[in-house]
Amino acid sequence: RIVYVNGDYLPEEEAKVSVFDRGFLFADAVYEVTSILDGKIIAFDGHAKRLKRSLDELQMQNPISTEDLLEVHHQLVKRNELTEGMIYLQISRGNPGDRDFAFPSEDVTPTIVLFTQTANLLNNPKVATGMKVISVDDQRWARRDIKTTQLLFPSMAKMMAKAAGVDDAWMVEDGHVTEGSSNNAYIVKDGKIITRNLGHEILHGITRAAVLAYAEAAQMQIEERPFTIDEAKKADEAFITSASTFVMPVVEIDGVALGDGKPGKSSLRLREIYLEESLKQAV
Ligand code: PMP
Repeated sequence: RIVYVNGDYLPEEEAKVSVFDRGFLFADAVYEVTSILDGKIIAFDGHAKRLKRSLDELQMQNPISTEDLLEVHHQLVKRNELTEGMIYLQISRGNPGDRDFAFPSEDVTPTIVLFTQTANLLNNPKVATGMKVISVDDQRWARRDIKTTQLLFPSMAKMMAKAAGVDDAWMVEDGHVTEGSSNNAYIVKDGKIITRNLGHEILHGITRAAVLAYAEAAQMQIEERPFTIDEAKKADEAFITSASTFVMPVVEIDGVALGDGKPGKSSLRLREIYLEESLKQAV
């Protein structure tokens, strides 16, 4: 696999980052994941905008222009002959040459790394069965709107889900669902789509923004507000969204089946609309 590191395209074995890199020592880094379908990038503009916002929130320099970033994505797709999968992008505050909590001076340039991952995104077998989730206490830091690589708690939540024999965990704070371990969470009740409103408590999903816009255009009712885990268990259906799962039905929460226990109509319809529309705009 050819990866991109600080301006160079290299075989993965030759790509190197310093042991003093702040991404490695402090998780002082931000990331983005975009999906590739048919060799094209889905929702590039949205991901580029959110990247810029994450960098700004952390007062981190941006080492690359949006145009160049798009070119790197295209080069990686081409050099790796990627037709379906993901591109992972990470920017860290760089390598100050030592370990120190304080941010380094401006002359330390950020480290930028991108690599591809192959995956079957369209024919994900989970679409037919739907996902099962458990609820876990949300123990992440309070700025989840910044897409940092500080992902230890989401990894632990995923392991709790695995140990419980289910697919994912929905994180709960003060009785209310924040989001899934790596996705935004939704319930559907009496035809209404309910998902948590934006704030510091959740990541502002790029797929979320697109799906809500398409749902509105399709005259579906939307309520952006916190919902409790108990309300979720009484919902007619549920689903999640993320760049790599698109729209994915959820059929069970903490062992409680939703509706008839099968993927819901609204969830499947939204998946279809999302794929159709976002493929049209893919670059
Ligand atoms: N919430 C969290 C915590 C996530 O990690 C992700 C995916 N990285 C999302 C939501 C979904 O965001 P997007 O639709 O931009 O992939």
